[in-house]
Amino acid sequence: MTNTPPHSRSYLDHNATFPLQPEHWAEVASLLFAEDKAKPGNPSSLHAEGRRARELIEAARRHLAVALGVEPQEIVLTSSATEANNMVIQAAGRAHALSTSVEHPSVAEPLRLFSRSLSEIPPLEAPEAFLSALIGALRPDTSLVTVIGAQNETGQIFPVKAFGDWLHAQRFSAPAHVAKHKISASAPEPQLPPSLDQEALKRLHFHVDATQLLGKIPADQWMSPGIDSIGLSGHKVGGLHGTGALMLRRGRPMRPLLYGGKQERGRRAGTENLPGIISLGLRAQAIMRTEYWDHVAATRAQARELEAALRAVPHLMLLSDAERGLPSTVHAVVASEAPSTAEDLLIALDLAGVAASSGSACSSAVGRPSAAVAATLAARQNPGSTRLSELELRHLSQQALRFSLPIVASPEHRAMALHRISEVLATHLDKVRSNR
Ligand code: PMP
Repeated sequence: MTNTPPHSRSYLDHNATFPLQPEHWAEVASLLFAEDKAKPGNPSSLHAEGRRARELIEAARRHLAVALGVEPQEIVLTSSATEANNMVIQAAGRAHALSTSVEHPSVAEPLRLFSRSLSEIPPLEAPEAFLSALIGALRPDTSLVTVIGAQNETGQIFPVKAFGDWLHAQRFSAPAHVAKHKISASAPEPQLPPSLDQEALKRLHFHVDATQLLGKIPADQWMSPGIDSIGLSGHKVGGLHGTGALMLRRGRPMRPLLYGGKQERGRRAGTENLPGIISLGLRAQAIMRTEYWDHVAATRAQARELEAALRAVPHLMLLSDAERGLPSTVHAVVASEAPSTAEDLLIALDLAGVAASSGSACSSAVGRPSAAVAATLAARQNPGSTRLSELELRHLSQQALRFSLPIVASPEHRAMALHRISEVLATHLDKVRSNR
């Protein structure tokens, strides 16, 4: 469906996949085929070939651990963030689970399948309000709290560090001080249900799906000692597809999804994906470099520019906020009555050389309503205004446009993308207006 040559396209779908770069592929190959080393064999074998493979895996694990500020033993290498998220949720048992209404399907689906009861907190914009709602919904039988770190469609960031720090303080302060640790100086004291004791808070497991945070927000801004596990994905940060990791705190019990061999300390059976793991380790090293974060800052500036351009377009409602949310995600809903406006726009953008999307590649093929967008729209309604009906929310949630920008791009590439988007929107939204 493209009439622009591949090299001059503006690929703006990095939240779906951050495409593999040839230089990265070459780096992976240079480690796999190092001239002075044995060719890697099975990492569980004792011979030189096996030991070389093991050495490469352990180096990658160390790089990822350093990037997250955890111990290497706390990293379980997986096939995807989907696998990491499933592992935690399926092991958490069939008690009460507490989550948000904007989780990725790799969290939302297993939660529905495996928890006996589930409470979902809406994506309230003010972090203090979200935290109060989350803490207020804790129950003595809550075995799992799982919160998306950054929403893949809207780019909204959730206060997982604040909740983790709060939980850690509750778990380890003297019992008399339980619930006395404030979330922030200005926030009211959280209302902890009286039946919740310190033991219940120690027992529950706090998981964060940090797939979209990694490489976009420095880890020290979202990691916390109160976070028991996090799910991560390699292909969102420029690594090979089909790679991921679970950070699981030492001492936290876990039931594997896959049984068989004793790989990953018995936490995940199956011969390791060596090229994928090397790739993940290299990307973890890349995001530790200062210049990488200079690129992130430039991306945020570009996203703000695109948001400003979209804000000026009639019919578009911005749900992203590149200032406070992910630095590379711009998301808008087309508030038009025509049923396929977003789809038409995405096709027009593609023909003009811009690859954008309607939202999550995993859940919302164009035209399918997005639960995350509907929940976000509902949470953003002003108390004083007329509330949108279920039908209106459903319609609007099918009308999303998401642009997820590259972290490293030349200023010319950025300018070209903005120019193309502005042109397509101007032409097509004029058509929508004249059809009304
Ligand atoms: N969580 C979030 C927030 C995501 O954006 C994605 C990918 N769309 C996943 C989990 C799943 O990652 P993977 O493709 O590695 O399974």
